[in-house]
Amino acid sequence: MESVIPVNEPLLNGNEKQYLINCIETGWISSEGPYVTQFEECFSAKVNQKYGVAVSNGSVALETAVLALGIGKGDEVIMPTFTIISCAAAIIRAGAKPVLVDSDPETWNIDVNQIADKITAKTKAILVVHIYGLPVDLDPIIAIAAKNGLKIIEDAAQMHGQTYNQKPCGSFGDISVFSFYPNKLITTGEGGMIVTDNPELAAKCRSLRNLCFMPGKRFYHEELGFNFRMTNLQAALGLAQVERMDEFVKIKRNIGQKYHQLLHQEPGLQLPLPSTAYAANIYWVYGIMLTKEVEFNAVAAMKKLEILNVQTRPFFYPMHLQPVFRKMSLFQEERYPVAEKMAERGFYIPSGMAITDEQIDKVAARLKTILI
Ligand SMILES: *Cc1c(COP(=O)(O)O)cnc(C)c1O
Repeated sequence: MESVIPVNEPLLNGNEKQYLINCIETGWISSEGPYVTQFEECFSAKVNQKYGVAVSNGSVALETAVLALGIGKGDEVIMPTFTIISCAAAIIRAGAKPVLVDSDPETWNIDVNQIADKITAKTKAILVVHIYGLPVDLDPIIAIAAKNGLKIIEDAAQMHGQTYNQKPCGSFGDISVFSFYPNKLITTGEGGMIVTDNPELAAKCRSLRNLCFMPGKRFYHEELGFNFRMTNLQAALGLAQVERMDEFVKIKRNIGQKYHQLLHQEPGLQLPLPSTAYAANIYWVYGIMLTKEVEFNAVAAMKKLEILNVQTRPFFYPMHLQPVFRKMSLFQEERYPVAEKMAERGFYIPSGMAITDEQIDKVAARLKTILI
């Protein structure tokens, strides 16, 4: 039987093995090992931020970032409804309230024109999330934030190596976060990083990551922290991966461009925009939306593809429709039609780093057969 074409497979054939062997041979496997600092320095330099704080995953990077900014009870943070739950969870766990905004139907990012209306006296920050491969249009958001005295938290978990007007994604937030989950552009298995230019914010994140141990007075705590530390083993992988970040970006762009070439004449599909005025798509994942001409939705399409040995993943399910938040009486009467349609009609196809040209051809051909 033919094997399944996986939705994602990472490439680990650089210095990963050598650095991991080094961890084992030297005995440095905890977060105290030297790769952690090296990875932090190397990665933060890549995204033009002075400080990097490596943590155990992208979700806790968000949580740490929100807390470091002092966001808490009574505060509001504006964010897109179309994103991963980690964004809303970080705000809610800090005691603050997420205020949602619908998406742009073409870029799939937060609709920049709908942000200003959501600002109240309680708003403290805007959490921008770059979705799938194209960055959020940041300039208008930076202007809104400056005018209203708001902080920007930039979730660049899907955007390693991408730029906005030639400047790296992850360099725009007062505090920005990344994830290194295996489907991300570079991976540490599990892992994340907070990056910032602000030394106080970086120190606060370091402290929160490490149980708020006090320097010189261990086991004495003035604040409550977490164990969100990254291990030397994860950082070893991370360092080997950052070394190849530029090469990985090229690979992702090639995958996306090949899919675009094969699929752009298909009537039933809305494809990712190849570029905008401020960026060329990095195609973190290759997402597609079924147009209204197609009589079935994403769930049905994904089932049909599964039978043809093509793995897929659904698009995000909007925050305002999440049962967990409805139970908390959040977002009760809110509707965001663009995000709802994206969830209903969108999914992504195999686009991991290790995919071959032959597999891309097969996926495109099989996708065409189910649309007929
Ligand atoms: C993956 C991802 C996260 C969460 O990262 P984890 O490492 O899986 O916890 C957060 N935000 C976005 C936009 C993501 O894509």
